[in-house]
Amino acid sequence: MKLGNTFDRYIAVIFFVTIFTVILTSYFTLKDIINSHDKEIQSAVTPLFSLVTSEILRPLNVSNFMAKNQLIIDYAQQKEIENDYLISYLEKISKAYNMVAFIALEKHDIMLDSNKKVATLDSNNLEWFHRLKKLPGEQFTDIGNAENPHLFFDNKIRSNTGEFIGFTGVALDLKHFANKFQEYNDRFGFELYFVDNNNIITLSSNKIIKSQSHHRIELITRLNDLPWYQSLIKSNPSDSQLNSDVIYTTKEGLLISQMPIQELNWRMFIVSPPATEQSEYWTIFISRFMLFFIIVIVFYMVLLTIINYLKSRLIKHAQTDHLTQLPNRSHIHWRFDEIVKNNNNLCLVLADIDNFKNINDTYGHLVGDDVLRIIAEQLSQTLRKIDVVGRWGGEEFVMLLPETSADQAHIIVERIRKNIAAISFPISTTSGSFTTTISFGICESPIKSQNIEDYIQGADKALYQAKSNGRNQSVIFN
Ligand code: GH3
Ligand code: MG
Ligand code: MG
Repeated sequence: MKLGNTFDRYIAVIFFVTIFTVILTSYFTLKDIINSHDKEIQSAVTPLFSLVTSEILRPLNVSNFMAKNQLIIDYAQQKEIENDYLISYLEKISKAYNMVAFIALEKHDIMLDSNKKVATLDSNNLEWFHRLKKLPGEQFTDIGNAENPHLFFDNKIRSNTGEFIGFTGVALDLKHFANKFQEYNDRFGFELYFVDNNNIITLSSNKIIKSQSHHRIELITRLNDLPWYQSLIKSNPSDSQLNSDVIYTTKEGLLISQMPIQELNWRMFIVSPPATEQSEYWTIFISRFMLFFIIVIVFYMVLLTIINYLKSRLIKHAQTDHLTQLPNRSHIHWRFDEIVKNNNNLCLVLADIDNFKNINDTYGHLVGDDVLRIIAEQLSQTLRKIDVVGRWGGEEFVMLLPETSADQAHIIVERIRKNIAAISFPISTTSGSFTTTISFGICESPIKSQNIEDYIQGADKALYQAKSNGRNQSVIFN
């Protein structure tokens, strides 16, 4: 049995090591997948910087550079200017940087651009000039040109003494931004929002910018109007002023980070959805793992049942006497140890068929075998469920009767003895029959010992007594 337990333990260990290995492997695989996903997100930030640099900071710098150009400052202050001269300058800028360049000069009441457009400052679409002129600050971004909306980067031109001369700058087609941001959005799944210091959306990857929005209040989209921003404020009420170096998560699982663009006094918001995806990964992992675990446990139980069944059959086979189908001596030893541990009162009875040699000699071994089988059956049928009967060897049987006194055992045994004496055993070779008898030796606890040999010795002595007294009787050892 100890061997059996060790075997069970090995099976359990192998099983749990397998489960553990599978879980560990899948855990690390999943981690790798998520890490690579995270890396992808990180790698998306680098092109974002170059996107901001090329699409926003570069035009801003070009515009700034034009306004600070001493030649332009000096030329603009001359009495007479040549439009063509300025236009060719603007064309060069436009070619070099691939954006529309313009200049508007107050003194000369003129606005020129690299597309050779010429207008006076009182014309309809130059309301921006007068509006921005009044505003404090030197640098502006503005959306204008209703038919073909552009983002204008306007810089005030000032004389060396600080007098306002006019504006110069560049303009970029809003479609251009939309395409660039869309490309980015398609590739990395991020939404980008640019917001000025009044929390007004200036640019976004989402097509929410309407032309002229900066001029007409009702067209403006404010940061507070955006659902994700509302959700962000609700989720993080303590951070009314959001930090630039923190990534915020909304209830919907959106990851939101913000980046200041100091040059413009803007902020850029990056809205990405990886948080939900990550938790989805884990949900899938856990549900799969649970399923796997249940399958493994069921499989383990089934395997264990099969093993136990095979084992019990094997044990039974090894511990059963082939002729009589009764437990053999080694089984009796084990059962005795079990019974003696749990019972105070125990009787061990040895039974020995009388003159069995004669039966063999007279009718042959096969008939002798039949007698052994019939008597074995008789013994096991007569005894209680808690009793154990086995073949001790040859024509000897042993009975273990728990919770039984010697007197009680004597009554039981006498009944069996009489039953057996009444059996007429068939002779298989002829149609005749014969009878035989059996003797019993009873040994009762408490004898101090818990050793079967001592009980056997006692029972054997009693049996010897029974034989000497003329057989076909039961004797209690004392
Ligand atoms: P007693 O009354 O003193 O017990 O006499 P006995 O003849 O029964 O005892 P003895 O020990 O002299 O003989 C037992 C015989 O049992 C001898 C042996 O050949 C026979 N025997 C032992 N095992 C088997 C068996 O499995 N089958 C058969 N047919 N005979 C067996
Ligand atoms: Mg014998
Ligand atoms: Mg005998």
